[in-house]
Amino acid sequence: MTAPWRATVLTLFPEMFPGPLGISLAGKALASGLWAVEARDIRASATDKHRSVDDTPAGGGPGMVLRADVLAAAIDTADAPRAFPRLLMSPRGRPLTQSRVRELATGPGALIVCGRFEGVDQRVIEARQLEEVSIGDYVLSGGEIAAMALIDACVRLLPGVMGKAESGSEESFSESLLEYPQYTRPQAFEGRPIPEILTSGDHAKVAAWRKAEAEALTRSRRPDLWTKRQGPRKNTTDG
Ligand code: SAH
Repeated sequence: MTAPWRATVLTLFPEMFPGPLGISLAGKALASGLWAVEARDIRASATDKHRSVDDTPAGGGPGMVLRADVLAAAIDTADAPRAFPRLLMSPRGRPLTQSRVRELATGPGALIVCGRFEGVDQRVIEARQLEEVSIGDYVLSGGEIAAMALIDACVRLLPGVMGKAESGSEESFSESLLEYPQYTRPQAFEGRPIPEILTSGDHAKVAAWRKAEAEALTRSRRPDLWTKRQGPRKNTTDG
């Protein structure tokens, strides 16, 4: 058996892991050894007698900043293989996408640094070449929940984790499209029937309906995705 996909998480709150990742799909995969998580306490790398990990921002301003020396030591002592991408969860990062998730899931794992307070000293980001990753345009109180979101998205794509191989390929974002609406029994719910086509047994018609629904949804809700999808196809017409 090949080595399991591995998340090495650097955090001030290692007790938060695996947390929700220990339950349901990700939890079963964790228990069966398809992936592994090691949460390491950044504070263990503090050197002064107060075990301090943060200090006031240079130049003034509110809050505290995670120290570069402490964080660098935590990164250096985490025995994550050199091939691991080194990620820093950060609202300033490049927004996480399903295609980046797919890349990460295909690799051996990731080293994930969780910020706290006002963030981390810029010099450690540069010196340890951390890739800043955001999970959206809003601010969390720490990187742990962001790291869990990233890990969850990766783990469900690992071979053997999801039941059906194709359930990852048709869902939202797979072709810059949002997923079509889903229905299940009962046949009528509060007077609303399941769209007739879905119970017709005509697979070609079902596929066409789903594609049209996915396109309409994407167009109205996510014009940004829609433009991206149209992009490469437009090369012969307008510019
Ligand atoms: N002062 C910072 C926010 C710090 S929030 C700023 O304005 O950019 C504290 C920590 O939470 C961050 O260091 C980061 O690790 C995490 N975090 C907050 N929002 C996040 C987001 N949208 N994506 C990823 N991590 C986030």
